[in-house]
Amino acid sequence: MGRVIAVANQKGGVGKTTTAVNLAASMAATRRKVLLIDLDPQGNATMGSGVDKYNVATTAFDLFVEDKPVDEVLVHCEAVKYDLIAANSDVTAAEIKLMEVFARETKLRRALEPVRDKYDFIFIDCPPSLNLLTVNAMAAADAVMVPMQCEYYALEGLTALMDTIEQLAAVVNPELSIEGILRTMYDPRNRLANDVSEQLKNHFGNKVYRTVIPRNVRLAEAPSFGAPVMYYDKSSTGSKAYLALAGEVIRRAEEAQKAAKSQAAQA
Ligand code: ADP
Ligand code: MG
Repeated sequence: MGRVIAVANQKGGVGKTTTAVNLAASMAATRRKVLLIDLDPQGNATMGSGVDKYNVATTAFDLFVEDKPVDEVLVHCEAVKYDLIAANSDVTAAEIKLMEVFARETKLRRALEPVRDKYDFIFIDCPPSLNLLTVNAMAAADAVMVPMQCEYYALEGLTALMDTIEQLAAVVNPELSIEGILRTMYDPRNRLANDVSEQLKNHFGNKVYRTVIPRNVRLAEAPSFGAPVMYYDKSSTGSKAYLALAGEVIRRAEEAQKAAKSQAAQA
């Protein structure tokens, strides 16, 4: 059964899209079957996967509003070895039209049902807000991954975000767990970043991924080539970090599976 992970943080510019794209590519490179869903109307994950958002035939709009079956909406991206549900400005309209849809919060979850088993991992790149699209992502996901920058005030924002996720989960998806907190754009020479990182570990313990994503210009450059960083500069620190993260996410998924099995055996 595929594990669905929503990459979310209502703050913009924290590395959600960079993480979704590069984690998807790293997973696919280790022969996992991966689907990446772009739910941000900016379509950055779409472009970053090498798909032209201005010329794509189908987007998440078709899934949410047109009721097209998921296998007619996704596109296989040969170059990056994963499947993609694209986004562009049409998805803004989807967010508005969703208001009128029956059981609007669980639309994505129901739409994904037929393909969930075909993938090892499904990643959802969320928009930088807590709108109905993000709510759909939370309802469809098994777990949430929260990328964050180790800045002043980061902890405050994070605690608020965790509360929001928990409240949301209680309503739309009680099974939802926080999969992990990912430190992004990390500069180890920055003392404040180190302090915040320490506080983060004290506060959230093993919820914090051991893998740290360094600030790396290659990660910022890769999207302009329409490619995940591993196809742009494989030896970069950014590329290596996302491969390491993929390994950690796989281990966590296996642990979660084991825990679920032993729980089922006890019941
Ligand atoms: P979000 O999706 O949360 O808005 P992005 O992934 O788009 O954030 O990242 C915001 C900006 O920061 C982008 O220009 C991206 O290329 C850049 N960026 C993201 N992660 C890194 C990193 N580790 N090192 C350097 N630049 C990064
Ligand atoms: Mg983004």
